[in-house]
Amino acid sequence: MARIIDGRKIAKEINESLKVKIEDFIKKNKLTPKLAVIIVGEDPASLFYVKMIARSCERASIDFEKYSLSGKTSEKELLKLIDNLNEDKKVSGIIVQVPLPEHVNQERIQEAVNPSKDVDCFNPINMGRLALGKPEFLPCTPYAVYELMRRENIVVEGKHTVIVGRSGIVGRPMALILLQKKQYANATLTICHSRTNDLSYFTRQADILIAAVGKSEIIKRDMVKKGAVIIDVGTNEVEGKLVGDVAYEEVLEKVSVITPVPGGVGPITNVMLMQNTLKAAGKLIN
Ligand code: NDP
Repeated sequence: MARIIDGRKIAKEINESLKVKIEDFIKKNKLTPKLAVIIVGEDPASLFYVKMIARSCERASIDFEKYSLSGKTSEKELLKLIDNLNEDKKVSGIIVQVPLPEHVNQERIQEAVNPSKDVDCFNPINMGRLALGKPEFLPCTPYAVYELMRRENIVVEGKHTVIVGRSGIVGRPMALILLQKKQYANATLTICHSRTNDLSYFTRQADILIAAVGKSEIIKRDMVKKGAVIIDVGTNEVEGKLVGDVAYEEVLEKVSVITPVPGGVGPITNVMLMQNTLKAAGKLIN
């Protein structure tokens, strides 16, 4: 029977120590870290996510400000707001919630966020730094996976890690984080995606399997190695319930460690955003 990782407990522990660090920071610098979140339009998933961020900020004693813009906002207006927030000495971190309306160039918007305030790590400068093994910020979801593995003493060095998914926000930066020359990294990696022939050929070889696909229960029992560590990043809504990319019940008896969905990686993600916001606040005073 697998060891089931309790992401909620880990998130709580990180948050408690982070809160102490933030309170110390505020006392020492007379500055409260502040996260500005821009949301354009009314995408329900984005609205929900922003509500969760607000809650995380409150828990961590970080100031939060939401900028809700109409779906008709022009790219120029959005760039102007980002410019103002870039200049605002009270704002430590900026998030521009995606998806953006079609008339707005997402890349141009992400490039406009000052890299020192880019707590989501969407700016190509920050992604480039990560690719070079010299990151400023780590993107929150793969950062959450890394932190979870570190805290659970899941050592990737010397093992074969297979990541399924190569998106810019999860799979690809996950690979870059695990490739770093540092403890709990130094991974030997295989990255799979939708054009991979015979996915199970690769997943069966994984000592550590990280699924970030967005397809409910695509990873079945016969696709995992006995005793593997399974990290399920996927969150898929099926008949009103959240389901991972891994067929959890099927693989539970076969693997050694597994993250559930919900309650695995998800709760840790926003806490890492708070961690990045504190780091960004430190840049304002240096
Ligand atoms: P994307 O849709 O951007 O990327 C999905 C990746 O999976 C792509 O690289 C795609 O390949 C690959 N893929 C799709 N179908 C297959 C297949 N049949 N076989 C192998 N690979 C496949 O999704 P995200 O990376 O944004 O998110 C992935 C999952 O993680 C989603 O369920 C999402 O909800 C969840 N998520 C969870 C978070 C959390 O905090 N827990 C935060 C962010 C995301 P290709 O590149 O070829 O298209």
